[in-house]
Amino acid sequence: MHPLWNYAGPTAAAPIILIVAVAVVCVVTAVYSSAHRADVVAIDQERQLFLRTINERRGQVLREAENIVTSNEAVRRMWTAFDPEWMQHRVGLRLRTFFGHDYVFVLDPKDRFVYALRGLDSVPPREFGKDLDALQTVVNDVRGHHRAGASVEIQSADEKTGVARPTRTARVQKFMGRPAVVAALGVVPNDDKIQLPPGPSPILITVSLINGPFLDDLSERLKLPVLRLVDAAHPALPAERTIDLRDDEGKEVAKFAWTPNWPGSQIVEKVVPFVGVAVAGFLLLAGFVLRYIRRATATIAAGEARLRQLAMQDPLSGLPNRSLFGERLEALIREVRQGGASAAVLSIDLDHFKDVNDTLGHHVGDALIGAVAQRLCRALRSDDLVARLGGDEFAVLTTATTDLERLGGMAQRMITTLSAPYIIGTNTLVIGASIGVVVIDRTTHDAPDVMRYADMALYRAKNEGRNRACIYDAAMNADLTQRKQLENDLRQAIKNGHLALAYQPLVSADGQRVVGVEALCRWPHKERGQVPPAQFIPIAERSELIVPLGEWVLRQACLQALQWPQVILAVNVSAIQFRRPNFVETVERILADTGFDPSRLELEITESTLIGNVDGAENAMRRLKGLGVKLALDDFGTGYSSLLYLRSFPFDKLKIDRSFVSSIEKAADAASIVHAIVSLGRGLGMKVTAEGVENADQQLFLRAAGVHSMQGFYFGRPATADEITQRLEQQASQAQSHRPRLLAVNG
Ligand code: C2E
Ligand code: CA
Ligand code: CA
Repeated sequence: MHPLWNYAGPTAAAPIILIVAVAVVCVVTAVYSSAHRADVVAIDQERQLFLRTINERRGQVLREAENIVTSNEAVRRMWTAFDPEWMQHRVGLRLRTFFGHDYVFVLDPKDRFVYALRGLDSVPPREFGKDLDALQTVVNDVRGHHRAGASVEIQSADEKTGVARPTRTARVQKFMGRPAVVAALGVVPNDDKIQLPPGPSPILITVSLINGPFLDDLSERLKLPVLRLVDAAHPALPAERTIDLRDDEGKEVAKFAWTPNWPGSQIVEKVVPFVGVAVAGFLLLAGFVLRYIRRATATIAAGEARLRQLAMQDPLSGLPNRSLFGERLEALIREVRQGGASAAVLSIDLDHFKDVNDTLGHHVGDALIGAVAQRLCRALRSDDLVARLGGDEFAVLTTATTDLERLGGMAQRMITTLSAPYIIGTNTLVIGASIGVVVIDRTTHDAPDVMRYADMALYRAKNEGRNRACIYDAAMNADLTQRKQLENDLRQAIKNGHLALAYQPLVSADGQRVVGVEALCRWPHKERGQVPPAQFIPIAERSELIVPLGEWVLRQACLQALQWPQVILAVNVSAIQFRRPNFVETVERILADTGFDPSRLELEITESTLIGNVDGAENAMRRLKGLGVKLALDDFGTGYSSLLYLRSFPFDKLKIDRSFVSSIEKAADAASIVHAIVSLGRGLGMKVTAEGVENADQQLFLRAAGVHSMQGFYFGRPATADEITQRLEQQASQAQSHRPRLLAVNG
């Protein structure tokens, strides 16, 4: 089944199917029950019709006989002197032929049977034997022997016409074992013109069987199909219905059966196709509704799925977002805890992305994010999950390996991939990436823990100089707490003026003369002793404490160097500090406040200050130069060493990083690199300084290479201001004492 259908279908379908089923059942039940009711009513009516007709038959038989015996002729021929001939022809055969009566009898005034008709023949009544006893009831009725339930009409005259009517009776009873209408009536004259003999009148009895021809006629007239007598030999069939014919006393006389018309069933037969069509229509409609609901549900579900997808997707990179990453991470942690294979999270942070965004605009930043996402996806297996957590933060969930060495290699490959130049529009951009790695194993608690550890590893990677990967270990947790502590302490130290400055001399190439000093920040911690700048400067940068720190250093150094008018003052400026929009104003203000000569101030900045911030940096540099301040590119050779930067920024000086200097004796290529850098700097009209000179050999090599000035332990470690003052005084006095000598030599 389709999952979407699965999702909401049955809940919507169930009531509809139920309603349709109930409706169909109702319609069918209604049709069938009304059909049944119609059948019941019809059968009852047919039964009543039959009984009424039989009842009417009683009156009819009486009227037919009455016609004949109510006449003066009848009195004469049946009563005064019985005339068998007349009786046979004018009464018996007439009743038989005209009206279809089956038997005719006559009793004389003494109740003796004097006439009997069977078929078309007059037969002696005694041939009927015991059967004549069955006629005693009607005879008694006419003779006036009272009987309960008898319907006897006493002799009377018709109200309107005055015509005499005999005492008469008719009943339904068995005769010769068969049901019959038996009627009896006395003979009466139709006027008083005739002399009546004394005594009671003779009685005419006529028997009409309710059988074959009569029933056929009835069946025809009443539309009661196959009407027939039921008896032991011919019992009622299941398809037939029966009618009990009872006499006046309620005794069963006979049972009849007929095949009912079943009008209800006929209606049903006629209606069924229509009902069928209606039900089919109904089902079809229900089907359509269900289908519609199904589609609507599917659409809604698809919409929801899409919304969910959107909610789970980062629109800029098309990668899963933080929510989805969190969900997958939690699921993976559960799996690992339940015995699944271990996994790892790599937390990636781009270096200098913010600068790209700030200086080149968001559209370039957005495009860069898209390009980074693509590179990440290409660098990883399809099983690995790459997500953008926000800003320039990405994360990878991988099950490829949990071997620390391989993870380190994987992270390093990703950094290499991400550090390759990007071409976006007309810009060629170089960014770096730092990666924190954490392994998920059975001891892993939950997703927030994992992300915290990954952040710690990332933090470490950034502090160790960016563009590198760090794998989390438990010590980092403690380390981070310590860092936080240190950050708080540093904040207090800046506020309370507990920082100090050391000054390292910069000497001329011959090593004879101090030509400048570099101010280096010192933090004497009351518990930890001297905290090295390599430790507290990164903390200051991350927490932006570097801004007040740097301002303090600059102000303090300028105040101090007022006493050393013969040398230049070099001050380090962090990238974060330099990128502050009001940095130039701050320098200007400090120069004004201290009255320090701008041409003696040399600001040392690193390449990281320039990356991704080309226009802003150039602008600030030109303004600083406008103030008369000098600019040095510090640690040259450790960063990107881009010729572009060297060419397009107005540096006055280039400082070769001490890592090259220390490698001069060991690696031949380091020596040639130093040569190249010096000639490059000279070629661009810059002064070149070598840092970290620790021995005479290095000095000799560098001097030969054409370096303008040098700095290093060989010429002097960073020292207190007093020590510098002493050294400068010493140098001045030596110069004093030398000059006359030189003059003397020369002279
Ligand atoms: P840097 O700007 O390259 O400063 C020179 C560093 O090299 C100093 O370390 C100095 O003591 C060391 N050094 C000088 N000569 C030699 C040598 O012959 N051999 C060796 N091995 N090292 C030598 P320090 O004072 O520990 O400072 C480290 C870094 O901290 C500095 O590197 C600089 O980047 C930063 N820093 C120091 N003070 C400040 C400051 O006030 N502001 C900013 N933004 N950064 C500062
Ligand atoms: Ca420096
Ligand atoms: Ca340096």
